[in-house]
Amino acid sequence: MKEFRHKKSLGQHFLKDQNIIRKIGEVANISPNELVWEIGPGKGVLTQELLNYTKRLRCFEIDHTLYPILENRFGSKIDLIKTDILKADWNEYFADEPIKIVANLPYQITSPFLFRVAKNTQHFSSVIVMVQKEVAQRIAAKVGTKDYGILTLKMQYYFNPKYEFTVKPNVFNPPPRVDSAVISLVPRLDRPYIEDEEYFWRVVEIALRNRRKMLRRNLRELIGKEQVEKLTESCEIDLQRRGETLTEAEFVSLYEQVYKIKL
Ligand code: SAM
Repeated sequence: MKEFRHKKSLGQHFLKDQNIIRKIGEVANISPNELVWEIGPGKGVLTQELLNYTKRLRCFEIDHTLYPILENRFGSKIDLIKTDILKADWNEYFADEPIKIVANLPYQITSPFLFRVAKNTQHFSSVIVMVQKEVAQRIAAKVGTKDYGILTLKMQYYFNPKYEFTVKPNVFNPPPRVDSAVISLVPRLDRPYIEDEEYFWRVVEIALRNRRKMLRRNLRELIGKEQVEKLTESCEIDLQRRGETLTEAEFVSLYEQVYKIKL
């Protein structure tokens, strides 16, 4: 078995500050014996903290050189799943109760991982994760701000996000080049009904594509100039507005009106 060496390619920035580790544990608000998944336990610093709250901890780790370290430290106290979380068949691990996810995520898997959780929200109670600060700001952004965009709308469609706190590079070993942040995501129960989700996201993407352009310019790409002119007269949304000023409800209204034209 090869010895462990930090691998940049696996986003291995390990936490070394006990205060931050404790703070993540507090934000996670784990009830006694709640079922928790930790993604990427590394050498187990956060794992150790989570065990103070629950004995039902399943940890997914991709790096096989970390397995002996984790096994020595925790033995059967954790359920170590030796796999790539993105390749694992999650159905094997889902339970009859909602699962909480707590992780200092490897940054390169943030988006695919969160989108996979989004597609399976019925299995999760909440997600408390460390991500790049910039990503956290985009996920939690308010309408009309510079961070508001497709990632905001997609994540806020599935979750109620909360920006918890910022984390500086010096609390990690090795330190990453950018600031990080802990964010919590609670699956939404009040998602709007959308008949054709794929088309809805096309409308949103095109509306946001050229941020400086008005909706009427951007929408031409989707339905053509003539239809846009017609829509301008009937649309409940003012097409002189820019996409980034629209709330989710307004995007739904816009999509419904564009969709009628498409049919
Ligand atoms: N939890 C530890 C800590 O806070 O110190 C380590 C966090 S480190 C940012 C990310 C961890 O995720 C590493 O241990 C890395 O090997 C693991 N990892 C990277 N990609 C993974 C994947 N696709 N599936 C599971 N684990 C992964």
